[in-house]
Amino acid sequence: MNQTRHDWTKEEILAIYNKPLMELLYEAATVHRQFHDPNTVQVSTLLSIKTGGCPEDCGYCPQAARYHTDIEGNDLMSVQQVKAQALRAKASGSSRVCMGAAWRNVKDGPEFDQVLEMVRTINKLDMEVCCTLGMVTENQAKRLAEAGLYAYNHNLDTSEEYYKEVISTRGYEDRLQTIENVRKTNVTVCSGGIIGMGENVEDRAGMLVALSTLNPQPESVPINALVAVEGTPMEDQKPVEIWEMIRMVATTRIVMPQTQVRLSAGRTEMTREGQAMCFFAGANSIFAGDKLLTTPNPDVNEDMEMFKQLGLNPQKAFVKAPQPQTVEAADSEYAPLGEKPKWSRPGHVIERNEAAKGKGVVTKS
Ligand code: SF4
Repeated sequence: MNQTRHDWTKEEILAIYNKPLMELLYEAATVHRQFHDPNTVQVSTLLSIKTGGCPEDCGYCPQAARYHTDIEGNDLMSVQQVKAQALRAKASGSSRVCMGAAWRNVKDGPEFDQVLEMVRTINKLDMEVCCTLGMVTENQAKRLAEAGLYAYNHNLDTSEEYYKEVISTRGYEDRLQTIENVRKTNVTVCSGGIIGMGENVEDRAGMLVALSTLNPQPESVPINALVAVEGTPMEDQKPVEIWEMIRMVATTRIVMPQTQVRLSAGRTEMTREGQAMCFFAGANSIFAGDKLLTTPNPDVNEDMEMFKQLGLNPQKAFVKAPQPQTVEAADSEYAPLGEKPKWSRPGHVIERNEAAKGKGVVTKS
């Protein structure tokens, strides 16, 4: 039985990634069967609860205020709106709702209180609740846990070395610190990255070293293929080839055997055959719904048709970890601390990001 290791080296991971494809697939599929039901895939729904206007400069992201993309921003959704969408997601087979807000970091106050209420509401619908809200302090992570949060997403995006070519407004250590803060609670960790941003294979392996050497490893690892959006610094990046996705998924499965590996952004560009190979290589989670935050995603009916064709079943909620208990706001043990943590702002110049500020589509008025 393959044991979970926390001492993977970049050389070992590169050797796996570069194996002849048939050997790589066989090894990944074998590991997958040791730890997971190969015919079960988790279906999650991603809701953008606050879109656009983000102060960060992530080079891949159309929600960064400094780039001129044509996404329509919105204020924080209401709890009722979120509840209605969660119920729709549940009815169409999702067992998890992931709520994303385009924030640099969580700030204590009425908006965070509203998000906590969303968490309570969805947990009471017996669905797994995940949030991706930017950087969080330990106290904020505890408040989310108390509300009934099941998972917190905070992607490492790429290797530590290449991170400096993608984002200048925060450092890699901030990402790791947030993951550490979440780990001080019972909330599970979801952290992965994006391929196709101009990084090399060593960077992909470097990201997998950073994730797999965490102890415990993240319970969920999303692997995204860049969706190059007009107006962002990465608008001209070439699409990722399906073979790269398959290799990345298979390698992730081998080095993180117990993790849910999530096939995330970029699925609209993949054929059903390509997705089937990713499932064979160990992917066992997808996002459903026609939008992934702001970029296109296959329609949920198409996904259910694919599941039928491949004989896949959607995973039920809470099969990997128990459902958290929700504590009501009035009974909360944790007061908001109004912290102003010193998350870093490296502020180095990334030419591609600087050039993008002057390009792009004219925003609708
Ligand atoms: S990825 Fe998140 S933090 Fe980065 S610009 Fe987009 S919304 Fe902001």
